[in-house]
Amino acid sequence: MLFSGKLNKLRTLAFGLVFIGFAVMYIGFAGFAGYLGALLAHNMVVMAIFLVLGFFCVIGSSVMYMWLGMVSTKAVQVYCPNCSRITKIVGVKDECMFCKQQLSLDPKDAPQT
Ligand SMILES: [Zn+2]
Repeated sequence: MLFSGKLNKLRTLAFGLVFIGFAVMYIGFAGFAGYLGALLAHNMVVMAIFLVLGFFCVIGSSVMYMWLGMVSTKAVQVYCPNCSRITKIVGVKDECMFCKQQLSLDPKDAPQT
């Protein structure tokens, strides 16, 4: 579920970005507190850079969630023939969010009758 379909993949990425952002901010603070050697200890500039970078990661994640929400409302809902559930397609080709079945809206991929 986490890595099936473009929407879920991007959601997982946005989710991970929050943790990356916090990790970056934490590293910045650990450096300031002196845990990462004397070079970074009490260095305001380095800590500020790390905090701003981490902050942007968290903000970027929120923006990404907002954007994904808008993409999700525009995504085409289709019936998956493999697991017979309703899933969403982003773009022309995507995989089912439940069973990773490749689905396509391209008429060229329609079965020949
Ligand atoms: Zn499916």
